[in-house]
Amino acid sequence: MRKAILILGLGKSGKAACELAISKEIQLVAIDEKKTPDLVEFASGMEGSTSRFFLGGDFPGRAKADLIVTSPGIPRNSRLAKFAEELKIPVVSELQFGASFAEKPILAVGGTNGKTTTTELCAHILNSLGIRASAAGNTGFPLSEAVIRESSYDVHVVEVSSFQLERSPGFRPSAAALLNISPDHMDRYSGFDEYEEVKFSLFKNIGPRRSVINASLLDPYRRHCGGGKPFVFSNRRLPGADAFPEDAAIHLKRTGRAFRAPIPEGLPGRHNAENISAALLLVKLFLGAKFRTMESKITDAISSFRLGRHRLELVLERDGIKYVNDSKATNPDSVLAALDLFGGEGNVRLILGGLDKDMDFSPILTRRRHIKKAYITGQCKEKLFNLLKKRIACALLRNFTDAVLSACEEAERGDVVLMSPACASMDEFRNYQERGEKFVEIINRRFSK
Ligand code: ADP
Repeated sequence: MRKAILILGLGKSGKAACELAISKEIQLVAIDEKKTPDLVEFASGMEGSTSRFFLGGDFPGRAKADLIVTSPGIPRNSRLAKFAEELKIPVVSELQFGASFAEKPILAVGGTNGKTTTTELCAHILNSLGIRASAAGNTGFPLSEAVIRESSYDVHVVEVSSFQLERSPGFRPSAAALLNISPDHMDRYSGFDEYEEVKFSLFKNIGPRRSVINASLLDPYRRHCGGGKPFVFSNRRLPGADAFPEDAAIHLKRTGRAFRAPIPEGLPGRHNAENISAALLLVKLFLGAKFRTMESKITDAISSFRLGRHRLELVLERDGIKYVNDSKATNPDSVLAALDLFGGEGNVRLILGGLDKDMDFSPILTRRRHIKKAYITGQCKEKLFNLLKKRIACALLRNFTDAVLSACEEAERGDVVLMSPACASMDEFRNYQERGEKFVEIINRRFSK
């Protein structure tokens, strides 16, 4: 049993780790470089004889702790991370800390894109069956918080980001799914190889019969995880795949006979077919033989699921023009999913740009036939413009609002105005939600006149 811990970072997950530590009567010291009114209030509410808080860059001289719990947002080369390293105490993520107290099984979802959608879908299916499932982790509901309220749940479905996996050597879910891997967060890692290695560490403590992967990841799976046959899903019929879409339904094998789950309109595109397949395979692993008796309820649950906001959200259709908010598309691969779904022959007016994560944007060019014009803005606009300008009609805009307005003004019947920026939002916005809301506001204001 831990006696004393040091918590680094007091974002959502750091705060949840504090609350979990206090509920387990563990002494804690918590540090954050910021000193916002919200943090001061949190600290004063929590401070006691066994919990101390250091805010605003004020670090303790010595910290007596036998474990450090770090938040995913803390970069590895930050002052805080260096301070922790010098203490020579084991460091784990909030994910591993929370999981170490979980008494209910954990189903984990990793990957570059589709994690939140798949996590929420999997939890939604289980809840529809009367199995109380949390949708925790990177969804914004830290696992530590779900664990504090564990009496309300039978199982945790946990979205796992690469940042959380970095410090989770002991994380051992009951089953895990890896959706896809494409370059992202290249400003955090030495390159794609390191990013891939971190993503595959999801399977480090579980065998192939508890692992679910995209068929496109079979080769790297063997490289990183050795032999054995994991459960595989594919975005098209594939011999040997355990789940794949065909004729507007997901076909699932290994249930004795094949199970066919119709794909609802609300989960469009091949990428969502993959997300449904992964969620179904996790549910199947969790339920075992009981899955067969629940198939019709599972089908109903998929139909009643609604995609989260800012993911291919059709804001409005007016005069034959669609306006789509895909603010959550913060890397090139998620933009390809959007273009595959909405793209016809040169019909997309694509709003691109924001904060660069040291990314290679050239994959966007593979879908250039869909793009009528790109409206480029944000911190990395020059980089994007220089890459695209010779192959695609491009406009360079002063800011996000100008980019959206310009796309709207030039749109014609049959076009799709698609805000799928391939970049993070923090150069101009607090987060992707705020960027999405801004887009919706501009579109609504335009048509309410
Ligand atoms: P994450 O939590 O991994 O960021 P989300 O479910 O929030 O994933 O989706 C993020 C973005 O990626 C959205 O733009 C969405 O349309 C797109 N997306 C969702 N699933 C996939 C997938 N399987 N492959 C590629 N893109 C996807």
